[in-house]
Amino acid sequence: MNFHEYQAKQLFADYGIAVPKGIVARTADEAVAAAKQIPGEMWVVKAQIHAGGRGKAGGVKLARSFDDVKKYADAMLGTKMATYQTAGVELPIDSVLVCEGTDIAAEMYLSVLVDRASKTITFIACAEGGMDIEEVARTNPSAIKTVHVDYVQGLQAYQCRQLGFDLGLNAKQVGQLSKIMLGLYKLFNEKDLALVELNPLAILTNGDLAVLDGKINSDDNATFRHPELAAMRDIRQEDETEVLASQHDLNYVTMDGDIGCMVNGAGLAMATMDVISLNGGSPANFLDVGGGATKERVTEAFKLILSSDKVKAIFVNIFGGIVRCDMIAEGIIAAVKEVDVKVPVVVRLEGTNVEKGKELLRSSGLAITAADDINDGAQKVVAAARA
Ligand code: ADP
Ligand code: MG
Repeated sequence: MNFHEYQAKQLFADYGIAVPKGIVARTADEAVAAAKQIPGEMWVVKAQIHAGGRGKAGGVKLARSFDDVKKYADAMLGTKMATYQTAGVELPIDSVLVCEGTDIAAEMYLSVLVDRASKTITFIACAEGGMDIEEVARTNPSAIKTVHVDYVQGLQAYQCRQLGFDLGLNAKQVGQLSKIMLGLYKLFNEKDLALVELNPLAILTNGDLAVLDGKINSDDNATFRHPELAAMRDIRQEDETEVLASQHDLNYVTMDGDIGCMVNGAGLAMATMDVISLNGGSPANFLDVGGGATKERVTEAFKLILSSDKVKAIFVNIFGGIVRCDMIAEGIIAAVKEVDVKVPVVVRLEGTNVEKGKELLRSSGLAITAADDINDGAQKVVAAARA
């Protein structure tokens, strides 16, 4: 699950990490009222969307008067924004964060994530952060510093100091960095996060470190343990079909082909997409109905697949183990009747109660093409999509 910058900064503050004063606003008037509560003569108006790259896309504006604050908030609120991180999708700007404007001397990068290679929680840092961090990583990888944390010992103060001196910080800044890192480490563990990114972690002209941007991503499998995080979810920033899918416990990812897939098990779903591709087709989605698929979920899955008008044919590929083929067949029949499926449906069933399942489909009178195995099914559905 992704979080907005203002939510990330709230979590940082909860863990003792100092963040510049900022107030969320949902209208231009609220933005001006927010700026009036923030001392200084410079404010930054920041579009709140689930993506970085806002600066380059015009979603971070420096205002030097209340009129400017109003103007920028007005221009952003109610519009949609795509950045180089949104893969062509435009995200709605429902709120802006009005922040204290700071004088920046330098911008650093600091993140925390789980490094699978070393099996540790790892800090990644770079003295040259900011909006071009991807470029630095490409052209000057040795500038990127990493700190692996031993899970039993936890993050040690000397590791923070070492990183601080590697980044060229002075003693006072190293103390500030240590406080930030220890807070982030605690936050990361206690909230089951997958990624925290501070970019920039700025050095101000007065020498202090300041957290100017924050991105958090949490582990979806642990959301049930954190109702306070679940309450922060903003589904307006998410793919509509994927949100619907998650409400029915379906694993669904939108793709750009034209063959809708309904499969049980993520491994089989990937294999199915591979075999469709091998046969010259292109999947419209990844959909795992899960091990405990019920008739209702199969119906919902069909509705989801059909909600895209790009889908020209559907391939149902089910290996019945815990879930029985006859029950899947009942689900398919109910769905095809209820949803008014107008595209060809190819079904391959294998496993528990397969004969009963096939018989149900045969006697249903519906135009469903039966397939003998995964390859036969893929060939038939690719042909059907082209017809
Ligand atoms: P994004 O990563 O989405 O582009 P950031 O929050 O990192 O958005 O903002 C982009 C740039 O705007 C930063 O690299 C920094 O130079 C500047 N900036 C952000 N917040 C402030 C602030 N409070 N004061 C001054 N400049 C800021
Ligand atoms: Mg940033």
